Amino acid sequence: MIQAVLFDWGGTLSQHVDVDLLEMWRAAAQVLAPDDPDPVAQQLLEAETAWWRTNVEHGDRSGTTEALVRSVATATHLDVEGALEAYHRAWGATVAHDPAAVAVLTGLRERGLRTGLLSNTHWPRALHDAWLADAGLLDLLDVRLYTCEMTHMKPHPEAFGALLRAVGVPAERAVFVGDRPRDDVWGAQRAGMRTVLLRGRPVEAWDVVPDAELDTLDGLLEVVDAWR
Ligand SMILES: [Mg+2]
Repeated sequence: MIQAVLFDWGGTLSQHVDVDLLEMWRAAAQVLAPDDPDPVAQQLLEAETAWWRTNVEHGDRSGTTEALVRSVATATHLDVEGALEAYHRAWGATVAHDPAAVAVLTGLRERGLRTGLLSNTHWPRALHDAWLADAGLLDLLDVRLYTCEMTHMKPHPEAFGALLRAVGVPAERAVFVGDRPRDDVWGAQRAGMRTVLLRGRPVEAWDVVPDAELDTLDGLLEVVDAWR
């Protein structure tokens, strides 16, 4: 008996977009170093790349964008807040959600199922929640967990454990939907959940077999209904 359907965000509820990461950091660099932003943008991108690599190597530890920017912007007089705002604004312009997301989440609610979100992110909750609200998705998600507020990221058991506790459903009655074989499918399976992989995204491969595969969220209600 399925009681909850829980989601990843990037590439799952939101659509994958090819973004020039250096361009995103250039928005922050233009605030931090208006006279010569390019080297700072490069430094920020390198810090972010190292951040993801190091944090994963250290057991999927989590962190925040603010700490990341401060690690580069060591001079205290720099406008870190302004830089963060510009960086977040640049990303906001790229965000689009799966056109089926509202109908799918509404359908899950109509079936009496709990819904939730667990996102690996160093961006703050306010940013994510504002994007979800713009898309009409915020109130359709019973719980929203962002790893920027947690000690660990997916696939760490701590992250999935926190999600299951928040939604109040045992693992064997929960489905996790995501686009990353390691973080989403392997992690959720290890936590005891059923999994749906949204396939075909440009993400790290991992030797794991999901319980179901889809191209987009379209078709998810049929998969869940078959499991009920
Ligand atoms: Mg994702």
